[in-house]
Amino acid sequence: MSIPATQYGFVYTKASGLTLNKNIPVQQPGIGQLLLKIDAVGLCHSDLHVIYEGLDCGDNYVMGHEIAGTVADVGPEVDDWSVGDRVAAVGPNGCGNCSFCRGDAENVCKRAFGDWFGLGNDGGYQQYLIVQRPRNLVKIPDNVPSGIAAASTDAVLTPYHAIKMAKLTPASKVLIVGAGGLGANAVQIAKTFGAHVTVLDKKDKARAEALKFGADAALESLPAHTEAGSFDVCFDFVSVQATFDICQKYCQPRGIIVPVGLGAPKLTIDVADLDLREIKILGSFWGTTTDLEEVFELVSKGIVKPNVRSAKLEELPVYLEKLKKNEYEGRMVFHP
Ligand code: NAD
Ligand code: ZN
Ligand code: ZN
Repeated sequence: MSIPATQYGFVYTKASGLTLNKNIPVQQPGIGQLLLKIDAVGLCHSDLHVIYEGLDCGDNYVMGHEIAGTVADVGPEVDDWSVGDRVAAVGPNGCGNCSFCRGDAENVCKRAFGDWFGLGNDGGYQQYLIVQRPRNLVKIPDNVPSGIAAASTDAVLTPYHAIKMAKLTPASKVLIVGAGGLGANAVQIAKTFGAHVTVLDKKDKARAEALKFGADAALESLPAHTEAGSFDVCFDFVSVQATFDICQKYCQPRGIIVPVGLGAPKLTIDVADLDLREIKILGSFWGTTTDLEEVFELVSKGIVKPNVRSAKLEELPVYLEKLKKNEYEGRMVFHP
């Protein structure tokens, strides 16, 4: 594999937003590091929150946090990976040594906070990436193409982690608000747990896809006769006040609301209602290495089929605009 000296990529700065840089040096991996050739990288709605809405994830780095690639070079003291291995990045990039990382909670590693792949630290909107902690890579199954693998690292991993934490059972009645990149996969995963799934999405095509992926109902809004407290778990993949209010109203006593979306920087809770009905609000962040390995089992076996569309990385700015206008379904992945 011949490795160029420079490459192109999309760099985010707070001052200028996302800009194309055609002259980014391709570095050699140092001790314990490896160089990854990016095969595919997904576009997440979180990128919009960072670029246009002030979600603070650091300054001056190459964006792109859904990463699948091939090992192009390994530095000294890297024993676990070899040139040619197909791997995907576990975005939270845990340090590996702290109690969270040792306890299978590396997604909330305090040392790695803001040092996430493509969010604070360099990511995949480029051709080559230095991976500082190769422990945060997972092997991609041979039958999973790179585009699907990239989307699996967040658009599948994040709903999988949230659903695992909420401990769904076949008796669970679930509400999923927002069936886009993440939510459409949440439908499929919730169905693998045997849950009854109702989807709310404002877009016709997203509702049609949700039904295709096994949702029991997909609606623009809940019918007026719906009883308050109808759902055991409400996953909010939008998390603006209006959607959170729906989740709180329709969540069962002792039910769980998981506001996975980052749509509003702050939300207001009806505290009395929360207390009187003992509702839990569960934060959920991305996922762990174990979670991603389990996600790849589901994807490799065809149990979850992420809906992925592809384009060249040069076209990223076009698709940022399209995502802003909610003009496509599923996940866009780019090939540098
Ligand atoms: P997306 O744009 O692909 O999908 C959003 C979907 O929600 C679309 O289908 C849209 O039609 C629907 N929608 C928007 N507003 C709505 C409303 N008011 N009512 C009903 N439906 C509505 O977004 P995505 O990439 O799936 O990301 C979803 C959210 O999850 C984003 O806020 C993103 O930042 C967040 N996110 C969180 C984590 C985490 O770890 N907590 C990880 C990844 C993404
Ligand atoms: Zn994301
Ligand atoms: Zn750690």
